Amino acid sequence: MTLRLYNTLGRRIEEFKPLQEGLVKIYTCGPTVYDYAHIGNFRTFVFQDLLRRYLKYKGYSVFQVQNLTDVDDKTIKASREQGVSLREYTDRYIQAYFQDIDTLGIERAEVYPRATEHIADMVSLIKKLLDLGIAYFSEGSVYYRVSAFKDYGKLSGIKGELKAERIKADEYSKEEIRDFALWKSWDEEDGEVFWLTELGKGRPGWHIECSAMSMKYLGETFDIHSGGVDLIFPHHENEIAQSEAATGKLLARYWVHCEHLLVNGQKMAKSLGNYFTLRELLARQYTPSAIRFLLLSAHYRDRLNFTFDGLAQAETVVRRLQDFSLRLTEAKPISHEDRLVESVKEYKARFEEAMDNDLNSPTALAVFFEFVKEVNKKLDEGKVSQNDLEYCRAFLNTFNSIFNVIPSTQEDRLEPELQALIEQRQEARRRKDWATADKIRDELSRRGIQLEDTPQGVKWRRVKRLTL
Ligand code: AMP
Ligand code: ZN
Repeated sequence: MTLRLYNTLGRRIEEFKPLQEGLVKIYTCGPTVYDYAHIGNFRTFVFQDLLRRYLKYKGYSVFQVQNLTDVDDKTIKASREQGVSLREYTDRYIQAYFQDIDTLGIERAEVYPRATEHIADMVSLIKKLLDLGIAYFSEGSVYYRVSAFKDYGKLSGIKGELKAERIKADEYSKEEIRDFALWKSWDEEDGEVFWLTELGKGRPGWHIECSAMSMKYLGETFDIHSGGVDLIFPHHENEIAQSEAATGKLLARYWVHCEHLLVNGQKMAKSLGNYFTLRELLARQYTPSAIRFLLLSAHYRDRLNFTFDGLAQAETVVRRLQDFSLRLTEAKPISHEDRLVESVKEYKARFEEAMDNDLNSPTALAVFFEFVKEVNKKLDEGKVSQNDLEYCRAFLNTFNSIFNVIPSTQEDRLEPELQALIEQRQEARRRKDWATADKIRDELSRRGIQLEDTPQGVKWRRVKRLTL
């Protein structure tokens, strides 16, 4: 079966076929690295990981580019407030971002270009737009003339009415209010942050960053472009306008957008203050697998309301999956008659059918839970054969290579602080300082980590789960 995806460009479900057989080229808009990303951002990034993993499962090679927005109003303002260079400031949050995606089991993209390292590419693209008469200078800045691109609005259906978000009120020098900045001339608020280029002293706008970097790494036309739904307008509409006006070619063939994570019915957003970072949730003893599971439990085109009850339920589910996986690993064949092989094939087919249908994760998960239930029953009855076990294990592995929600026994990596405590305890034990070792064990236990000393070394398990 072929994967079908909802394409925002055209607003319908389409069969997915990459330009080049066997290879999928994807561009995903990455984080603005001015702070820790929140789990709303991670809903989109985890969804993109599901897409990536499923494409690989379908046999494609994936080449994914994700930009890091390391220059914009927010990064400049925050770095100046802290009195550190933009580079030093954004390095901190880029590092944190990579730690967070590793924690959430998100596979790394092939390339993570930083905006500040691609200024020359942006300048040459802007020059091309100037030469074509699509961009114009005004008061030292360069703007895109929206009226010059006849297809403007083809993605979002918005021809350029004003949407308050992301549009600064200070741009009186534009010909039309809907025109947007490609290059911003330096002003005092930018401090030390500027580039001296053929366009003058200044810095690039946000949208041009993605057009220049996608073209550089993926070519003029690539397969999939993805982000959260808030990026459809103006960001993606503007990317199309910039790239397609410059090349005369289609920018991306499939536009795939992830709906928002909400809190009490409102979008989770830094500006609303209703957000949780991954780190906050880990500090409250929630596990990465449960957070990931929760984010994947709804279909990506449906809104998902974040609640602590939901997260606590997700904890229970991933624990059950972990127990099931352990049980399957340890199970011994009892019967010679295959009783599960045929039904596992059916579960797998239904699972794949759900995923092929625009990555319908809730249905795919429901099928997997049916499978777990039936296998548990057969194991209780002692009615499994070697073949049965092999088929079940293979399906479990397939499932987890796509969803990646079953914690291994050592699960999610431990927070560095807790890991350090375990190491201090080991050190104390080596010194035969049993009192200190016990004290650290108690401290870890208070923080929800139970230790077990085994011949292979110390193992840990999360036991206490706090809910608000
Ligand atoms: P930003 O760092 O603000 O550029 O956002 C990074 C990604 O997170 C973008 O793809 C956004 O569309 C996405 N995003 C932001 N808020 C949410 C949310 N509440 N739910 C889902 N995705 C979001
Ligand atoms: Zn972008």
